[in-house]
Amino acid sequence: MADYTIAVAHLYGDLMNTYGDYGNIIALTYYAKQIDVDVDYQLVSLGDDFDADKYDFVLFGGGQDYEETIVAHDLQDKAIQVKQYIENDGPLLAVCGGFQLLGHYMMMADGTKVDGIGVMDHYTTNMHDPKLTVRNNERLTGNIVIKNNETGEEYHGFENHQGRTFLGESERALGTIVSGNGNNGMDQTEGVIYRNVYGSYFHGPIFTRNGNLAKRVLTTALTRKYPTIDWQSKLNAIPTETF
Ligand code: GLN
Repeated sequence: MADYTIAVAHLYGDLMNTYGDYGNIIALTYYAKQIDVDVDYQLVSLGDDFDADKYDFVLFGGGQDYEETIVAHDLQDKAIQVKQYIENDGPLLAVCGGFQLLGHYMMMADGTKVDGIGVMDHYTTNMHDPKLTVRNNERLTGNIVIKNNETGEEYHGFENHQGRTFLGESERALGTIVSGNGNNGMDQTEGVIYRNVYGSYFHGPIFTRNGNLAKRVLTTALTRKYPTIDWQSKLNAIPTETF
């Protein structure tokens, strides 16, 4: 057993796991092991309690509209605790459908409007003309590259979504589009950063392909739990996998 442990919650990992989003936890564990940190994994799904104080990292993956609608209803019961976790600076990665459901609402491909939990200020529509009046269910699919303007890091991924997400004022993008579509195919933004929450449309999974981001989030999680240790130096000393 290692001296240090982080507790990881996989929100609806049995329903929301498009393109192997669970790989993000494998990537996190891969780096954690090398610096002698154990990862204690827990699936939190329909009907389960989500305890805000219990976790050091949360993954909320993507899903098809059908599963996403089921999850959207159950998530309302966890909304207060999820909000508390986020406002207490808990690190969270939300991919695609998960990213959508943390915002105000999501318009499914068939036009049904499903409420998110509104703990973050974005919304997702299926309208795609600049005035958002014409419904278009064309999917935004393909390889995508973005640049994070604060760190200068480039992230590579694969996107496949029908929803078009628009960020709120308290939110900043994870990156600016280098190539691909991103949040809505219009405003050059991709993903979101709010407190220690990273949202993204990237599958791939994002941490597997972008070890720099995985290390950044792992540093945040470990520093929050064990503040006296220089986790950044420990993680800098091991190789970063990026492909
Ligand atoms: N169902 C959502 C959409 O199509 C999310 C898709 C996903 O998570 N890949 O926009």
